[in-house]
Amino acid sequence: MSLNMFSLEGKTAVVTGANTGLGQGICVAYAQAGANVIGVARRSCQETADKIAAFSGNFTEVIADLSDVSLIPHIVEEAGKAYGRVDILVNNAGIIKRCDAADVTMEDWDSVININEKMVFFLSQAFAKTWLADGKGGKIINIASMLSYQGGIRVPAYTASKSAVMGVTKAMANEWAGHNINVNAIAPGYMATNNTENLRKDGQRSEEILSRIPAGRWGTPEDIAGAAIFLASDAAAYVHGFTLAVDGGWLAR
Ligand code: NAP
Repeated sequence: MSLNMFSLEGKTAVVTGANTGLGQGICVAYAQAGANVIGVARRSCQETADKIAAFSGNFTEVIADLSDVSLIPHIVEEAGKAYGRVDILVNNAGIIKRCDAADVTMEDWDSVININEKMVFFLSQAFAKTWLADGKGGKIINIASMLSYQGGIRVPAYTASKSAVMGVTKAMANEWAGHNINVNAIAPGYMATNNTENLRKDGQRSEEILSRIPAGRWGTPEDIAGAAIFLASDAAAYVHGFTLAVDGGWLAR
Protein backbone atom coordinates (compact mmCIF):
# COMPACT_ATOMS: atom_id res chain seq x y z
CA MET A 1 0.00 0.00 0.00
CA SER A 2 1.27 3.45 -0.88
CA LEU A 3 0.66 6.60 1.12
CA ASN A 4 0.27 8.32 -2.27
CA MET A 5 -3.39 7.35 -2.15
CA PHE A 6 -3.86 10.13 0.44
CA SER A 7 -2.21 12.75 -1.78
CA LEU A 8 -4.33 15.52 -3.27
CA GLU A 9 -1.59 16.51 -5.71
CA GLY A 10 -3.08 17.87 -8.95
CA LYS A 11 -6.62 18.01 -7.52
CA THR A 12 -8.73 21.12 -7.05
CA ALA A 13 -10.95 21.62 -4.02
CA VAL A 14 -13.70 24.14 -3.28
CA VAL A 15 -14.20 24.83 0.45
CA THR A 16 -17.03 27.05 1.69
CA GLY A 17 -16.60 29.23 4.77
CA ALA A 18 -12.88 29.42 4.04
CA ASN A 19 -12.03 32.58 5.94
CA THR A 20 -11.95 31.15 9.45
CA GLY A 21 -12.34 28.17 11.79
CA LEU A 22 -12.72 24.65 10.44
CA GLY A 23 -13.00 25.84 6.82
CA GLN A 24 -9.68 27.61 7.08
CA GLY A 25 -8.14 24.51 8.66
CA ILE A 26 -9.41 22.34 5.81
CA CYS A 27 -8.10 24.78 3.17
CA VAL A 28 -4.63 24.74 4.73
CA ALA A 29 -4.65 20.93 5.08
CA TYR A 30 -5.74 20.44 1.46
CA ALA A 31 -3.07 22.82 0.17
CA GLN A 32 -0.48 20.98 2.27
CA ALA A 33 -1.70 17.72 0.72
CA GLY A 34 -1.02 19.22 -2.72
CA ALA A 35 -4.45 20.49 -3.82
CA ASN A 36 -5.28 23.78 -5.51
CA VAL A 37 -7.79 25.33 -3.12
CA ILE A 38 -10.67 27.69 -3.87
CA GLY A 39 -12.17 29.27 -0.79
CA VAL A 40 -15.74 30.53 -0.96
CA ALA A 41 -16.68 33.15 1.63
CA ARG A 42 -18.70 36.32 2.03
CA ARG A 43 -15.61 38.25 3.14
CA SER A 44 -11.89 38.24 2.35
CA CYS A 45 -9.96 35.03 3.05
CA GLN A 46 -6.66 36.91 3.38
CA GLU A 47 -5.62 35.10 6.56
CA THR A 48 -6.20 31.72 4.86
CA ALA A 49 -4.38 32.91 1.74
CA ASP A 50 -1.40 34.04 3.85
CA LYS A 51 -1.19 30.69 5.68
CA ILE A 52 -1.15 28.83 2.36
CA ALA A 53 1.26 31.28 0.69
CA ALA A 54 3.69 30.61 3.56
CA PHE A 55 4.40 27.16 2.07
CA SER A 56 3.83 28.25 -1.57
CA GLY A 57 0.50 26.44 -1.88
CA ASN A 58 -2.22 27.47 -4.34
CA PHE A 59 -5.27 29.37 -3.07
CA THR A 60 -7.91 31.54 -4.75
CA GLU A 61 -11.03 33.06 -3.20
CA VAL A 62 -14.54 33.47 -4.56
CA ILE A 63 -16.66 35.98 -2.67
CA ALA A 64 -20.30 34.92 -2.29
CA ASP A 65 -23.03 35.12 0.34
CA LEU A 66 -23.96 31.49 0.91
CA SER A 67 -27.46 32.37 2.07
CA ASP A 68 -28.26 33.18 -1.56
CA VAL A 69 -28.80 30.09 -3.73
CA SER A 70 -29.09 32.27 -6.84
CA LEU A 71 -25.28 32.69 -6.61
CA ILE A 72 -24.64 28.97 -7.19
CA PRO A 73 -24.03 29.29 -10.96
CA HIS A 74 -21.60 32.16 -10.24
CA ILE A 75 -19.70 30.05 -7.67
CA VAL A 76 -19.44 27.06 -10.02
CA GLU A 77 -18.31 29.26 -12.91
CA GLU A 78 -15.71 31.21 -10.90
CA ALA A 79 -14.37 28.01 -9.34
CA GLY A 80 -13.99 26.48 -12.78
CA LYS A 81 -11.99 29.47 -14.00
CA ALA A 82 -9.42 29.27 -11.20
CA TYR A 83 -7.58 25.99 -11.88
CA GLY A 84 -9.77 24.10 -14.34
CA ARG A 85 -11.85 21.11 -13.30
CA VAL A 86 -13.02 20.99 -9.67
CA ASP A 87 -12.60 17.56 -8.04
CA ILE A 88 -13.65 18.12 -4.42
CA LEU A 89 -16.38 20.16 -2.72
CA VAL A 90 -16.44 20.75 1.04
CA ASN A 91 -19.70 22.21 2.30
CA ASN A 92 -18.37 23.73 5.50
CA ALA A 93 -20.05 27.15 5.90
CA GLY A 94 -22.73 27.15 8.54
CA ILE A 95 -24.40 29.27 11.18
CA ILE A 96 -25.90 28.61 14.60
CA LYS A 97 -28.49 30.66 16.47
CA ARG A 98 -28.91 29.97 20.18
CA CYS A 99 -32.39 30.60 21.56
CA ASP A 100 -34.97 28.81 23.72
CA ALA A 101 -37.16 26.60 21.51
CA ALA A 102 -40.20 28.55 22.70
CA ASP A 103 -38.79 31.80 21.29
CA VAL A 104 -37.29 30.75 17.93
CA THR A 105 -38.57 32.99 15.11
CA MET A 106 -39.39 31.76 11.63
CA GLU A 107 -36.89 34.24 10.24
CA ASP A 108 -34.04 32.73 12.29
CA TRP A 109 -35.22 29.22 11.45
CA ASP A 110 -35.15 29.99 7.71
CA SER A 111 -31.72 31.64 7.82
CA VAL A 112 -30.15 28.60 9.52
CA ILE A 113 -31.88 26.11 7.21
CA ASN A 114 -30.98 28.11 4.09
CA ILE A 115 -27.23 28.09 4.71
CA ASN A 116 -26.76 24.84 6.61
CA GLU A 117 -29.14 22.66 4.60
CA LYS A 118 -30.54 24.15 1.38
CA MET A 119 -27.20 25.55 0.14
CA VAL A 120 -25.41 22.31 1.04
CA PHE A 121 -27.76 20.29 -1.16
CA PHE A 122 -28.00 22.67 -4.11
CA LEU A 123 -24.29 23.51 -4.27
CA SER A 124 -23.59 19.76 -4.17
CA GLN A 125 -26.15 19.23 -6.92
CA ALA A 126 -24.51 21.92 -9.09
CA PHE A 127 -21.02 20.39 -8.85
CA ALA A 128 -22.38 16.85 -9.15
CA LYS A 129 -24.09 17.81 -12.42
CA THR A 130 -20.70 18.78 -13.89
CA TRP A 131 -19.22 15.48 -12.67
CA LEU A 132 -22.14 13.44 -14.01
CA ALA A 133 -21.70 15.21 -17.35
CA ASP A 134 -17.96 14.54 -17.73
CA GLY A 135 -18.07 11.11 -16.10
CA LYS A 136 -14.90 11.67 -14.11
CA GLY A 137 -16.39 11.57 -10.62
CA GLY A 138 -15.79 13.78 -7.60
CA LYS A 139 -15.84 14.02 -3.83
CA ILE A 140 -18.33 15.88 -1.64
CA ILE A 141 -17.65 16.29 2.06
CA ASN A 142 -20.37 17.89 4.16
CA ILE A 143 -19.71 19.25 7.63
CA ALA A 144 -22.31 17.74 9.94
CA SER A 145 -22.31 17.95 13.77
CA MET A 146 -22.90 16.08 17.02
CA LEU A 147 -26.40 17.49 16.51
CA SER A 148 -26.78 15.24 13.47
CA TYR A 149 -27.06 12.52 16.16
CA GLN A 150 -28.37 14.37 19.21
CA GLY A 151 -30.95 17.02 20.03
CA GLY A 152 -28.78 19.68 21.61
CA ILE A 153 -30.02 22.49 23.82
CA ARG A 154 -31.36 25.87 22.61
CA VAL A 155 -30.39 25.25 18.96
CA PRO A 156 -33.42 23.50 17.37
CA ALA A 157 -32.98 24.96 13.85
CA TYR A 158 -29.30 24.01 13.88
CA THR A 159 -30.18 20.48 15.01
CA ALA A 160 -32.78 20.22 12.24
CA SER A 161 -30.27 21.41 9.65
CA LYS A 162 -27.40 19.17 10.76
CA SER A 163 -29.66 16.12 11.06
CA ALA A 164 -30.69 16.88 7.48
CA VAL A 165 -27.03 17.12 6.43
CA MET A 166 -26.41 13.58 7.63
CA GLY A 167 -29.57 12.34 5.90
CA VAL A 168 -28.99 14.10 2.60
CA THR A 169 -25.37 12.91 2.58
CA LYS A 170 -26.75 9.36 2.43
CA ALA A 171 -29.43 10.31 -0.09
CA MET A 172 -26.90 11.86 -2.49
CA ALA A 173 -24.47 8.97 -2.01
CA ASN A 174 -27.15 6.45 -2.97
CA GLU A 175 -27.77 8.17 -6.30
CA TRP A 176 -24.22 9.14 -7.23
CA ALA A 177 -21.96 6.38 -5.85
CA GLY A 178 -22.32 4.47 -9.12
CA HIS A 179 -20.96 7.52 -10.95
CA ASN A 180 -17.70 7.57 -8.99
CA ILE A 181 -18.93 10.44 -6.83
CA ASN A 182 -18.25 9.94 -3.12
CA VAL A 183 -20.55 11.87 -0.79
CA ASN A 184 -19.60 11.69 2.87
CA ALA A 185 -19.67 13.93 5.93
CA ILE A 186 -17.56 14.80 8.94
CA ALA A 187 -19.26 15.38 12.27
CA PRO A 188 -16.95 17.55 14.36
CA GLY A 189 -17.34 17.42 18.10
CA TYR A 190 -16.99 20.55 20.18
CA MET A 191 -14.32 22.63 18.46
CA ALA A 192 -12.81 25.94 19.58
CA THR A 193 -14.00 28.27 16.77
CA ASN A 194 -16.32 31.30 16.42
CA ASN A 195 -19.23 28.85 16.25
CA THR A 196 -18.73 27.86 19.90
CA GLU A 197 -17.48 31.19 21.27
CA ASN A 198 -20.66 31.95 23.23
CA LEU A 199 -20.81 28.38 24.51
CA ARG A 200 -17.23 28.55 25.74
CA LYS A 201 -17.96 31.88 27.45
CA ASP A 202 -20.86 30.29 29.38
CA GLY A 203 -18.95 28.91 32.38
CA GLN A 204 -21.51 26.28 33.36
CA ARG A 205 -22.21 24.92 29.84
CA SER A 206 -18.52 25.01 28.97
CA GLU A 207 -17.68 22.95 32.08
CA GLU A 208 -20.53 20.49 31.37
CA ILE A 209 -19.30 19.96 27.82
CA LEU A 210 -15.62 19.69 28.62
CA SER A 211 -16.19 17.18 31.40
CA ARG A 212 -18.11 14.95 28.94
CA ILE A 213 -15.40 14.86 26.25
CA PRO A 214 -13.25 11.74 26.81
CA ALA A 215 -10.25 13.44 25.18
CA GLY A 216 -10.55 16.13 27.85
CA ARG A 217 -10.21 19.14 25.54
CA TRP A 218 -12.01 21.13 22.86
CA GLY A 219 -11.07 20.19 19.29
CA THR A 220 -9.16 22.44 16.90
CA PRO A 221 -9.34 23.02 13.12
CA GLU A 222 -6.17 20.89 12.80
CA ASP A 223 -8.03 17.95 14.38
CA ILE A 224 -10.30 17.46 11.37
CA ALA A 225 -7.52 17.78 8.78
CA GLY A 226 -6.82 14.04 8.61
CA ALA A 227 -10.47 13.05 8.13
CA ALA A 228 -10.99 15.80 5.55
CA ILE A 229 -7.94 14.72 3.54
CA PHE A 230 -8.90 11.05 3.75
CA LEU A 231 -12.45 11.59 2.48
CA ALA A 232 -11.19 13.81 -0.38
CA SER A 233 -8.51 11.33 -1.45
CA ASP A 234 -8.36 8.16 -3.54
CA ALA A 235 -8.05 6.25 -0.25
CA ALA A 236 -11.79 6.85 0.28
CA ALA A 237 -12.83 5.55 -3.16
CA TYR A 238 -15.22 2.93 -1.68
CA VAL A 239 -16.51 5.06 1.22
CA HIS A 240 -20.02 6.33 0.47
CA GLY A 241 -22.71 8.05 2.51
CA PHE A 242 -20.91 7.85 5.85
CA THR A 243 -20.62 10.51 8.52
CA LEU A 244 -17.28 10.28 10.29
CA ALA A 245 -17.23 11.74 13.80
CA VAL A 246 -14.11 13.61 14.86
CA ASP A 247 -15.23 14.35 18.37
CA GLY A 248 -12.66 13.46 21.02
CA GLY A 249 -14.87 10.48 21.87
CA TRP A 250 -18.08 12.48 22.58
CA LEU A 251 -20.37 9.96 20.85
CA ALA A 252 -18.71 7.05 22.60
CA ARG A 253 -20.07 8.23 25.95
P1 NAP B 1 -17.12 29.56 12.22
O1 NAP B 1 -15.73 29.98 12.55
O2 NAP B 1 -18.27 30.37 12.67
O3 NAP B 1 -17.20 29.33 10.64
C1 NAP B 1 -18.40 29.36 9.92
C2 NAP B 1 -18.06 29.74 8.50
O4 NAP B 1 -19.27 29.82 7.73
C3 NAP B 1 -17.40 31.10 8.42
O5 NAP B 1 -16.45 31.11 7.41
C4 NAP B 1 -18.57 31.98 8.06
O6 NAP B 1 -18.24 33.19 7.45
C5 NAP B 1 -19.28 31.07 7.07
N1 NAP B 1 -20.59 31.59 6.77
C6 NAP B 1 -21.63 31.71 7.61
N2 NAP B 1 -22.65 32.30 6.97
C7 NAP B 1 -22.22 32.57 5.70
C8 NAP B 1 -22.82 33.17 4.56
N3 NAP B 1 -24.07 33.65 4.58
N4 NAP B 1 -22.08 33.29 3.44
C9 NAP B 1 -20.80 32.83 3.40
N5 NAP B 1 -20.19 32.25 4.45
C10 NAP B 1 -20.90 32.12 5.58
O7 NAP B 1 -17.37 28.15 12.85
P2 NAP B 1 -16.77 26.71 12.50
O8 NAP B 1 -16.83 25.96 13.75
O9 NAP B 1 -15.51 26.82 11.77
O10 NAP B 1 -17.92 26.16 11.56
C11 NAP B 1 -17.67 25.48 10.35
C12 NAP B 1 -18.70 24.39 10.18
O11 NAP B 1 -18.50 23.41 11.20
C13 NAP B 1 -20.14 24.85 10.31
O12 NAP B 1 -20.96 24.18 9.38
C14 NAP B 1 -20.49 24.42 11.72
O13 NAP B 1 -21.87 24.24 11.90
C15 NAP B 1 -19.73 23.13 11.81
N6 NAP B 1 -19.49 22.60 13.15
C16 NAP B 1 -18.76 23.30 14.05
C17 NAP B 1 -18.57 22.76 15.31
C18 NAP B 1 -17.78 23.46 16.37
O14 NAP B 1 -17.77 22.98 17.52
N7 NAP B 1 -17.11 24.54 16.10
C19 NAP B 1 -19.10 21.51 15.62
C20 NAP B 1 -19.84 20.84 14.67
C21 NAP B 1 -20.02 21.39 13.42
P3 NAP B 1 -18.19 34.56 8.35
O15 NAP B 1 -16.87 34.51 9.09
O16 NAP B 1 -18.27 35.62 7.31
O17 NAP B 1 -19.36 34.53 9.26
